[in-house]
Amino acid sequence: MKGLLVSTLLLGAMASVAGCSSSGGSQPAASKDAKGNSMIGVAIYKFDDTFMTGVRNAIAKAAEGKAQVDIVDSQNSQPTQNDKVDLFITKKANALAINPVDRTAAGVLIDKAKKANTPVVFFNREPLPEDMKKWDKVYYVGAKAEESGTISGQLIVDYFKKHPEADKNKDGVVQYVMLKGEPGHQDAELRTKYSVKAVEDAGMKVEKLAEDTGMWDRVKGQEKMAAFLAANGDKIEAVFANNDDMALGAIEALKAKGYFKDGKYMPVVGVDATAPALKALEEGTLLGTVLNDAVNQGKATFNIANVLAQGQTPTKDNTSYEIVDGKYVWVPYKKITKENMNDAK
Ligand code: BGC
Repeated sequence: MKGLLVSTLLLGAMASVAGCSSSGGSQPAASKDAKGNSMIGVAIYKFDDTFMTGVRNAIAKAAEGKAQVDIVDSQNSQPTQNDKVDLFITKKANALAINPVDRTAAGVLIDKAKKANTPVVFFNREPLPEDMKKWDKVYYVGAKAEESGTISGQLIVDYFKKHPEADKNKDGVVQYVMLKGEPGHQDAELRTKYSVKAVEDAGMKVEKLAEDTGMWDRVKGQEKMAAFLAANGDKIEAVFANNDDMALGAIEALKAKGYFKDGKYMPVVGVDATAPALKALEEGTLLGTVLNDAVNQGKATFNIANVLAQGQTPTKDNTSYEIVDGKYVWVPYKKITKENMNDAK
């Protein structure tokens, strides 16, 4: 009992010290370790996602020697994630970093965090603007999805300009198929839209032969591409995939139909620039990809959460990232082909 009282007093003292520089409200009860490091609760939508594994590793690396991060797997279930967040709050985490399973569920998570006065940084899956406005201690780290879509489209434009034979039926129209990410995810919706728009904006005509969701998944990407090929055969002239895992799955399906040997080629583009995608670029199967910068997204997420955990307001000076509209960090995308693939390593 006495121990509890002493530590409660100590925590109270630490909280009030930390509270000095804050924007007003009382700070969350601190749960610092013996070295005075903050505890940050990190919930990933699911561990079994190639890109998010990169972000997760970047968060862990950025935290080394600076804070304790408790990184948990929400197993692609929003109720599981809500329970994990409740547990972090019970454990008195100093800040939360959440990659929501369902980005429209962020409002509920914000209500929980606000009630406990535990600041929260969302990442990779963007909450709706009305939810972002619910509290001033809510941030988002991500990348502008439109930009990645536009770059994907430009990769196809560049290829068709250099290779007129890519228009196999010589009708002046790019017949394409689209492997979409998870419906409702901003990256799936906007990459799909802006990749096609970029081709049209370059003055080329397009015809969609097929579109389906591969749910960001390599095996599903392969299955959907096999179905597209079964239905459309060699009419397909280009393949857009909203991420590299689905693009790599599509490449497998194309290989099974004799592509990538004896002069039979198909331009396939992805997004992320994961290690296996860079290997495919090198081998000449993947035409191009877009660097989705997991390292900087992870670092920015951690830096903001860590500053918030200390009761401070994130700024460019204390996080190294520009904070737009007081709440957002946008990490830029980059076009990646075989020529500049070292930029993505
Ligand atoms: C990535 C995908 C990933 C998804 C997870 C996207 O930004 O491009 O590879 O599966 O985020 O939310």
